[in-house]
Amino acid sequence: MPITVLSSAVASRIAAGEVIERAASVVKELVENALDAGARRISIVLEQGGFERIEVSDDGCGIPAAEVALAFQRHATSKLSSDEDLARLSTLGFRGEALPSIAAVADILLSTRAADSTSGTEAVVESGVVIDLRAVGRAIGTRVEVRDLFARLPARRKFLRSSSSEAALVVQVVSQFALAYPEVAFSLRVGGRDALSSDGSGSREGAAVSVLGTQVARDLLPIEWHAPDAHGPRVSGLAGHRDAHRANRSGISLFVNRRWIQSRTLTAAVEEAYRTLVPTGRHPIVVLDLTVNPADVDVNVHPTKSEVRLLHERQAFGAIQRALHEALSRAGVARGWADAAGEQPLVDQNRVLRGLRVLGQVGATYIIAEGEAGLYLVDQHAAHERVLYEELSLAELGGQARQLLLEPISVDLPSVAAAFVEARREELAEAGFDVEAFGPNLALVRSVPALGRRIEPVSLTREVMVALSEEGPSADWRTRIRTISSCKAAVRAGDSLTTEEMLGLLQRLGEKELCRTCSHGRPTAILLSHRQLEQEFGRR
Ligand code: ADP
Ligand code: MG
Repeated sequence: MPITVLSSAVASRIAAGEVIERAASVVKELVENALDAGARRISIVLEQGGFERIEVSDDGCGIPAAEVALAFQRHATSKLSSDEDLARLSTLGFRGEALPSIAAVADILLSTRAADSTSGTEAVVESGVVIDLRAVGRAIGTRVEVRDLFARLPARRKFLRSSSSEAALVVQVVSQFALAYPEVAFSLRVGGRDALSSDGSGSREGAAVSVLGTQVARDLLPIEWHAPDAHGPRVSGLAGHRDAHRANRSGISLFVNRRWIQSRTLTAAVEEAYRTLVPTGRHPIVVLDLTVNPADVDVNVHPTKSEVRLLHERQAFGAIQRALHEALSRAGVARGWADAAGEQPLVDQNRVLRGLRVLGQVGATYIIAEGEAGLYLVDQHAAHERVLYEELSLAELGGQARQLLLEPISVDLPSVAAAFVEARREELAEAGFDVEAFGPNLALVRSVPALGRRIEPVSLTREVMVALSEEGPSADWRTRIRTISSCKAAVRAGDSLTTEEMLGLLQRLGEKELCRTCSHGRPTAILLSHRQLEQEFGRR
């Protein structure tokens, strides 16, 4: 499609213009253009954090000589011509604003040759004006060199951080592209050094090695999921192992139709899927691409296109969760407990648990048991918590989450908790809590989650409501209800158990898919393997 200037009717429907605020935004826009041009190799060079020079070269389709000057005009694009196109975008760019916006804050030297032209074109653009246009010889593709970014705008430049933090941001941006486009070979040089290079082999695992390093990439599990109906969402990507987690969310990369996006809701879907696997306060490593019908996503809601609006957000949330659960439980079955040497034998841990012989209890806290691989120490609270958590999830799925009380009981609550009960009554009921606020400090409870007989409804209700109201709004409060309730109802450290009770607990744990960690992500058991015992006693 040739470049044309958008009609004012279409232009007026485009979100307020792309503003180039940093070097990383320049890189992002130029790489998007290269990808839209079908490039298979994209190389990026950065000098002085991009303030001195940013160069992006590609082997894409190039720009015909006659259209080069037009590309620098506002709302000039080859990717959109009508309103309908705007609703069904499959390209990364569409506003026709990136090149003019960059030209407004830097000098540009562009050289390009279109696939069907015999010669190329070079354009010199200064202060937003094309001051020179000439024919040059070159290969098919495009190279854009951006010089002296913000030199004419000292005020804006002053607000930017150091060139090293700008460079770090560029590395992050290019990393995301490399993960989303494994079939494209990216190379990034920062200040003369190789900062990143992906091989373009098409495998996401390969791209992950370049971006995340061999260590992390080795343990990534493939995600491949699609909704039962052919038009529904698809989810693909890589799920980090539960043992690889970070202190922040930088390991979560989300893409919608291969566009890197920020989304609180979809991030929450990811975190919820890992909630009971990684320790509280830690965040998983996940690369995830959600594919939906382009007509169901509005990419035009945010100036930098980094947020999107999904028509079926709940469906997307569910799809991500199912995809991750599937990928993780597939892997969970294959892994055993780490022994103290960090080894993870490949065993069916569910079968192992069911086959354990109980030897006794230590400190009324740990169950000692013997299995084929050696001696197991099971944390009775963690184990029971996982059992209750999983049983509660199942009961919820079957619509049997609640356990009716013989008669309603009243619970006194802090006023924030009572207000929370009032506001969340319906959702609480879904999770098994039939509670109703009576005045600022009192609630009436008619049912609690079906956790078996061990629970004491007054303190359970109080604890859950107080915790939830303090945590504030959360996308995964149902998981939290399950976690808090199962923690509360589980046997504690210090409770002595009979051999039958211990055996029963191990049996029940052995039936649960996610038996390796409790719902807070702590291990349920540790293994002292025969090999390790032999080593400790100097037998080998
Ligand atoms: P948009 O990408 O939103 O269309 P831009 O200002 O980024 O707007 O680019 C304007 C036009 O210039 C694009 O629509 C495209 O036709 C052309 N163009 C820009 N960069 C390239 C490139 N690397 N390869 C081929 N064409 C390009
Ligand atoms: Mg663009």
